[in-house]
Amino acid sequence: MEIEHIIPKAKGGTDEEDNLWLACRLCNSYKGIQSDAEDPLTGKRVKLFNPRKQKWSRHFAWSEDGTQILGRTACGRATVIALQLNNIVSVTVRQQWVIAGWHPPTSN
Ligand SMILES: [Zn+2]
Repeated sequence: MEIEHIIPKAKGGTDEEDNLWLACRLCNSYKGIQSDAEDPLTGKRVKLFNPRKQKWSRHFAWSEDGTQILGRTACGRATVIALQLNNIVSVTVRQQWVIAGWHPPTSN
């Protein structure tokens, strides 16, 4: 895992704890310096999901087979696309976790 800046330092984010989060290298590299993205449904730009301030289950859900993250809100949909949360590596790993009975989590 890597320490990730929710608001990137390049956009004025701080090193204070409330701006930091743990992310895997892949997610962190997809996030880059993004702090907002386009909702694919409405075309509006919205802030990316903030795990410090927002509840995962309000903005996301697992697909029936447990391998894909679905956006439930503008923020969720934009974050799924911007962070490529359903990239082939992550989906392939989740498929193995489902087979092993470890996934999806039952609470968030
Ligand atoms: Zn990740």
